[in-house]
Amino acid sequence: MRWQGQKLGETDAAALPGLEDRSSVLRSVTTPEFAGMTFHEVLSKSALNHVPGASRMPFAWTINPYRGCSHACLYCFARGTHEYLDLDGGADFDSQIVVKVNVVDVLEKELRKGSWQHETVALGTNTDPYQRAEGRYKLMPGIIETLAASGTPLSILTKGTLIRRDIPLLVKAAERVPVDVQMSIAMYDDELQKSIEPGAPTTQARLDTVRALADAGFRVTVFLMPIMPHMTDSVAAIDDALMRIKATGARTVIYGALHLRPGVKSWFFQWLDRARPDLVSSYRGLYPGASAEAPKAYRQWLAKRARPLIRMHGLDGRHEDDYPQRGIRPGQGHVESIWRQGGVQSTGRASTAVTFRTTGSSSASPAQPMLF
Ligand code: SF4
Repeated sequence: MRWQGQKLGETDAAALPGLEDRSSVLRSVTTPEFAGMTFHEVLSKSALNHVPGASRMPFAWTINPYRGCSHACLYCFARGTHEYLDLDGGADFDSQIVVKVNVVDVLEKELRKGSWQHETVALGTNTDPYQRAEGRYKLMPGIIETLAASGTPLSILTKGTLIRRDIPLLVKAAERVPVDVQMSIAMYDDELQKSIEPGAPTTQARLDTVRALADAGFRVTVFLMPIMPHMTDSVAAIDDALMRIKATGARTVIYGALHLRPGVKSWFFQWLDRARPDLVSSYRGLYPGASAEAPKAYRQWLAKRARPLIRMHGLDGRHEDDYPQRGIRPGQGHVESIWRQGGVQSTGRASTAVTFRTTGSSSASPAQPMLF
């Protein structure tokens, strides 16, 4: 690993924020309780990350207590960021987790600075703050309490049912500052969910968690994304998802099609080759070369299909394209923040010819883009 064997005090300008000092690694831990996982405990120099170019965004600051994520979603855009640590974006991302064990202490110091403007801080923008490691390290309670005590609003996006542990704390925090909670639930077919998000809690467990949060008084937003072309984009699939979301008491849904950034694309296609070889050529057509996003025609088609269903279920709905294109936007890993350090992102996008055909799945449904 990049930082191992380095001299004390040596710095690395290309490292992840807070890990520039390679001597910051305390130890690597394996434990029978978390079989197959290694936790790399580090001392971070910073807790708050400023989001570049976020002036048009709902928040400009993030905290990511963990790097890597045991939820292991195949489509996770953050996989590429693990390569900065000389770890791979596949199994290493799922099992070699960097833990900023001093994040609460550092945060307290940063929030005490006179220059702190108490802007909203977002958690879960890069990796999941309620992944399995949180069960061991319990960093989130300190983060929530510290932010609330300083008068700083917070926003949490997670797939982790462990957030239920902190509902009483979140309720207390919400008495002092605005607290926004979002749950990411993309797959409503259990077999597909287990295959694509093998380390994440089940869909039903996450829906139950949304219910618990709504019962505690939170207006929960559900991220219905990524919607997978040809797998979860049928009228029946979207309708079923929205019905189950509505039943939880959630108010708002944000939806969007699958993104496949360069750091994740090869891992995703390895899975597709094994699990759905019949779809490989379709996906090559949808995400050719360095293209990370489904073509605009597909995204527009998806919006036309989803909007009336969202209205029918009495939910507020937003398409991810309603968000600005720069800086940070809802995505699949957890939030697509454009990582300017080290240049992980690729903006290159091949042009794609798009024609249309009728799917026949619903007479009221718009024609599906044909891309292959
Ligand atoms: S998408 Fe979110 S939950 Fe899934 S692996 Fe990435 S960070 Fe973890």
